[in-house]
Amino acid sequence: MSDLLRLRHLEHVTDYEEGDDLIIKARSKRSSPERQCCLLVNFVKNGTKKGQRYRDEPIRRQTVYIEIDRQRYKCNECGKPMYEGLPDIDTRHDMTKKLLRRIQKDAVEWPFNQAAQVNGVDAKQVERIFKDYAAKKLNGYVPTMPRVLGMDEKYIQKKARFIIGDIERGDMLDMQPSRRVLDLNRYFGSLPGRDNVEVVCQDMWRDYREITKRLFKNADVVIDKYHVQRTSNRGVEAIRRLFQQDVSKAERIHLKNKQKVFLARWETAKPFTRNQLTALFTFFPELKHAYEWKEAYYEIYDATSKAEANERMDQWLRDLPPAYRRPFKPSIDAINNWRPWILNYWDHLQTNAYVESLNNLIGRMNMQGVGYDLETLRAKALLKHGRIGEEIRLGITREGHGHGALRTRKLILGVPLSTLEADLAAGTF
Ligand SMILES: [Zn+2]
Repeated sequence: MSDLLRLRHLEHVTDYEEGDDLIIKARSKRSSPERQCCLLVNFVKNGTKKGQRYRDEPIRRQTVYIEIDRQRYKCNECGKPMYEGLPDIDTRHDMTKKLLRRIQKDAVEWPFNQAAQVNGVDAKQVERIFKDYAAKKLNGYVPTMPRVLGMDEKYIQKKARFIIGDIERGDMLDMQPSRRVLDLNRYFGSLPGRDNVEVVCQDMWRDYREITKRLFKNADVVIDKYHVQRTSNRGVEAIRRLFQQDVSKAERIHLKNKQKVFLARWETAKPFTRNQLTALFTFFPELKHAYEWKEAYYEIYDATSKAEANERMDQWLRDLPPAYRRPFKPSIDAINNWRPWILNYWDHLQTNAYVESLNNLIGRMNMQGVGYDLETLRAKALLKHGRIGEEIRLGITREGHGHGALRTRKLILGVPLSTLEADLAAGTF
């Protein structure tokens, strides 16, 4: 029966069932204290801690505990108490190292609840093990700075989180809990390779621009196209809402739940949506106006040169009816406050579109009840889907008494967002 154990340093004493569980009693083949103490190695045995139980891998779905009466020692020089060493056991998580490694691997590959189920432990424990493991694995993770860097934020657990990516490769490079200028300074300040960045694509957040100016010497700021265009949705929304207050109850019902229709682009709208819009515009010609001003704002981006775009901006600002200045204020402000950086788009033609679908997917994931916190989401994305680069040498370890081993780590590059998205969408992340 001793092959039940399959552990190098332990031997089988006996085994028995307790309820549904299998208990394997074992002892060290050669018992010795877990650490060196004083220079003169001089220990005396000092009792045992009875019936210490450690989880092992389940056998045919039966929970297995290894039970050890753990020897206690005392250093004869300084009197320090010490336990016997158990090289097969991870005493932090009270399980065999074999099981621990299995859970670490499963926690990266599968949702925590699934990893928990196959290993017969609970999801909270899987989470704890994963966090420990990820902290070690990702300690010192430094994203490689790309030519075109995207800075964006996503709402995860109700807070704006900072996400950077390699736009040309469509990779997510890192996530940080905050986009406060202090945190960003600290974060970017220590990153090597910033001079390689030629373009930073960002939304209209002043701190990003300041940081780029200070820390990315060779980079042009490009304001993300979609963030600019989107401001005009708010204009048409505001007008629709104002308008709704003045119409009869019957008409209001007609307008209700039509927000989405007004946000559709005419050019790409499906026939059904176009028909809806046409019907609404016949009823409410004023809304047609508002819609057209929104569309015109979007169409600034149809310009084929910087000069033409500049001209279109001027024209839009000049011709906008005074009554629309207030509802379309965000769009006016965007041009007035950000024009040179918006225009840089025509020099580089880069956008942050690559991270757009992440919002939905993270929302869906939270709904599925997986609900990873940001740190876990980041670590899991990097460990599960990170592109693996070259191996780097970290130095020599001096663990235990043997000769040192060369510690190396495979460099993690970025996470291809398409892969991450597919995984999130499938509910297997
Ligand atoms: Zn000692």
